[in-house]
Amino acid sequence: MKILIVEDEPSLREIMVQTLRREQYVVEQASDYASALEKIAGYDYDCILLDIMLPVMDGWAVCAKVRETSKVPIIMLTAKGDDMDKILGLDMGADDYIGKPFRPRELVSRINSVLRRCGKSQKLFDIDDIRVDLDKGVVYKDGQDLYLSALEYRLLLAFINSEGRLLTRSRLPVSYTHLTLPT
Ligand code: CA
Repeated sequence: MKILIVEDEPSLREIMVQTLRREQYVVEQASDYASALEKIAGYDYDCILLDIMLPVMDGWAVCAKVRETSKVPIIMLTAKGDDMDKILGLDMGADDYIGKPFRPRELVSRINSVLRRCGKSQKLFDIDDIRVDLDKGVVYKDGQDLYLSALEYRLLLAFINSEGRLLTRSRLPVSYTHLTLPT
């Protein structure tokens, strides 16, 4: 799953990036209308987190532009002072919203539920004779259930989400670093 974060506040953006990477999402970032649309033109994201108050052109402008061509799930990031009537009452093309400040857990569960609603959470990965069912959390080899510990499974997810990239030990999520990995 690849998520785009559009937020002009660097510290908040960084917290969201870290949070979502820990959850094994692939994350990219943009800070304004132009950079967001450039990213979106170049990739089909699974979900977009979109701040309303952006410099020059606001999040609604990004949302409207995206909706001309795409149904990608969009979650608006709202702040005090944003027009809640507009967010709740009208169909602006967004799928959900989350009010700042939010807890990391809340952000993750909101994303997951939007993805489920859009039928995006069901995912099967085939790697040679291995099949990973991300929805059920089950791994098959040659059609047979493969028993993996929780840690092994999470490592496998980290590899799947980093396909084609070199993963050094320091780039694995913190909880794995006590592992003695074969070198
Ligand atoms: Ca902002």
